[in-house]
Amino acid sequence: MSETVKLVCIMCPMGCPLQLEHEGSELREVTGHDCNRGAKYARQEFTDPRRGLSTTVAIAGARWSRLPVKASRPVRKEQVREAARRIHALRVQAPVRCGQVLLKDLLGEAGLDVVATRSMDRAAKETPASS
Ligand code: SF4
Repeated sequence: MSETVKLVCIMCPMGCPLQLEHEGSELREVTGHDCNRGAKYARQEFTDPRRGLSTTVAIAGARWSRLPVKASRPVRKEQVREAARRIHALRVQAPVRCGQVLLKDLLGEAGLDVVATRSMDRAAKETPASS
Protein backbone atom coordinates (compact mmCIF):
# COMPACT_ATOMS: atom_id res chain seq x y z
CA MET A 1 0.00 0.00 0.00
CA SER A 2 1.42 3.38 -0.96
CA GLU A 3 1.81 6.24 1.50
CA THR A 4 2.52 9.94 1.09
CA VAL A 5 5.13 12.02 2.86
CA LYS A 6 4.93 15.81 2.67
CA LEU A 7 8.03 18.01 2.60
CA VAL A 8 8.77 21.64 1.86
CA CYS A 9 11.58 22.09 -0.63
CA ILE A 10 14.40 24.14 0.92
CA MET A 11 16.48 24.52 -2.23
CA CYS A 12 15.24 28.06 -2.94
CA PRO A 13 12.95 30.68 -1.32
CA MET A 14 9.91 29.47 -3.30
CA GLY A 15 9.41 26.66 -0.77
CA CYS A 16 7.40 24.36 -3.03
CA PRO A 17 5.25 21.82 -1.14
CA LEU A 18 6.45 18.35 -2.17
CA GLN A 19 4.57 15.07 -1.94
CA LEU A 20 6.54 11.85 -1.96
CA GLU A 21 4.54 8.73 -2.73
CA HIS A 22 6.26 5.57 -1.57
CA GLU A 23 5.73 1.93 -0.76
CA GLY A 24 7.93 1.12 2.17
CA SER A 25 11.45 2.22 1.30
CA GLU A 26 10.67 2.44 -2.43
CA LEU A 27 9.99 5.96 -3.67
CA ARG A 28 7.33 5.85 -6.42
CA GLU A 29 6.68 9.47 -7.35
CA VAL A 30 7.52 13.04 -6.41
CA THR A 31 5.03 15.81 -7.15
CA GLY A 32 4.68 19.48 -6.27
CA HIS A 33 8.15 20.56 -7.43
CA ASP A 34 8.58 23.43 -9.85
CA CYS A 35 12.02 22.33 -11.01
CA ASN A 36 14.36 19.36 -11.03
CA ARG A 37 16.26 20.58 -7.98
CA GLY A 38 13.14 19.96 -5.93
CA ALA A 39 12.75 16.42 -7.22
CA LYS A 40 16.43 15.72 -6.54
CA TYR A 41 16.12 17.17 -3.03
CA ALA A 42 13.04 15.00 -2.35
CA ARG A 43 14.82 11.82 -3.48
CA GLN A 44 17.89 12.67 -1.40
CA GLU A 45 15.80 13.51 1.66
CA PHE A 46 13.86 10.25 1.36
CA THR A 47 16.77 7.91 0.70
CA ASP A 48 19.76 9.53 2.46
CA PRO A 49 18.90 12.74 4.36
CA ARG A 50 21.94 14.91 5.03
CA ARG A 51 22.63 18.26 6.65
CA GLY A 52 25.32 20.89 6.25
CA LEU A 53 27.41 21.33 9.38
CA SER A 54 29.19 24.55 10.32
CA THR A 55 30.59 25.27 13.75
CA THR A 56 33.77 26.46 15.50
CA VAL A 57 36.78 24.76 17.06
CA ALA A 58 39.26 25.89 19.68
CA ILE A 59 42.41 27.50 18.28
CA ALA A 60 45.54 28.39 20.22
CA GLY A 61 48.04 31.08 19.37
CA ALA A 62 45.63 33.27 17.36
CA ARG A 63 43.99 36.60 18.08
CA TRP A 64 40.65 34.82 18.55
CA SER A 65 40.01 31.68 20.58
CA ARG A 66 37.52 30.02 18.16
CA LEU A 67 38.01 29.19 14.50
CA PRO A 68 34.99 28.79 12.17
CA VAL A 69 34.94 25.44 10.35
CA LYS A 70 32.56 23.32 8.28
CA ALA A 71 32.17 19.78 7.04
CA SER A 72 33.30 19.67 3.41
CA ARG A 73 29.99 18.08 2.40
CA PRO A 74 26.66 17.34 4.07
CA VAL A 75 26.66 14.84 6.94
CA ARG A 76 24.12 12.00 7.30
CA LYS A 77 21.27 13.38 9.38
CA GLU A 78 21.53 10.66 12.04
CA GLN A 79 25.28 11.32 12.40
CA VAL A 80 25.19 15.11 12.80
CA ARG A 81 25.36 15.01 16.60
CA GLU A 82 28.36 12.64 16.63
CA ALA A 83 30.05 14.64 13.88
CA ALA A 84 29.63 17.85 15.89
CA ARG A 85 31.00 16.12 19.02
CA ARG A 86 34.14 15.01 17.17
CA ILE A 87 34.65 18.42 15.60
CA HIS A 88 34.29 20.14 18.97
CA ALA A 89 37.01 17.87 20.37
CA LEU A 90 39.50 19.29 17.83
CA ARG A 91 42.25 21.64 19.00
CA VAL A 92 44.20 23.52 16.36
CA GLN A 93 47.19 25.81 16.42
CA ALA A 94 47.56 29.08 14.50
CA PRO A 95 48.36 29.88 11.77
CA VAL A 96 45.50 28.32 9.80
CA ARG A 97 44.55 29.09 6.20
CA CYS A 98 40.97 29.29 4.91
CA GLY A 99 40.16 25.96 3.23
CA GLN A 100 42.82 24.07 5.17
CA VAL A 101 41.78 20.51 6.03
CA LEU A 102 41.87 20.11 9.81
CA LEU A 103 40.49 16.57 10.02
CA LYS A 104 40.20 14.04 7.19
CA ASP A 105 37.51 11.39 6.71
CA LEU A 106 35.24 12.47 9.55
CA LEU A 107 33.29 9.48 10.96
CA GLY A 108 35.33 7.22 8.68
CA GLU A 109 33.63 8.58 5.55
CA ALA A 110 36.20 9.08 2.79
CA GLY A 111 36.25 12.65 1.53
CA LEU A 112 34.19 14.05 4.41
CA ASP A 113 36.70 16.49 5.84
CA VAL A 114 36.61 19.33 8.35
CA VAL A 115 37.94 22.53 6.79
CA ALA A 116 38.64 26.01 8.12
CA THR A 117 36.32 28.68 6.73
CA ARG A 118 38.61 31.58 7.54
CA SER A 119 42.29 32.21 7.95
CA MET A 120 43.83 33.03 11.30
CA ASP A 121 47.41 34.20 11.66
CA ARG A 122 49.57 33.65 14.67
CA ALA A 123 49.00 36.44 17.17
CA ALA A 124 51.88 38.47 18.53
CA LYS A 125 50.50 37.70 21.97
CA GLU A 126 49.38 34.07 22.54
CA THR A 127 45.73 33.42 23.35
CA PRO A 128 44.90 30.06 24.92
CA ALA A 129 42.30 27.96 23.08
CA SER A 130 38.89 28.01 24.76
CA SER A 131 36.87 24.84 25.05
S1 SF4 B 1 11.17 22.80 -6.41
FE1 SF4 B 1 12.52 24.24 -7.47
S2 SF4 B 1 11.36 26.17 -7.47
FE2 SF4 B 1 10.42 24.85 -5.92
S3 SF4 B 1 11.43 25.40 -3.98
FE3 SF4 B 1 12.54 23.66 -4.86
S4 SF4 B 1 14.22 24.60 -6.00
FE4 SF4 B 1 12.70 26.19 -5.65
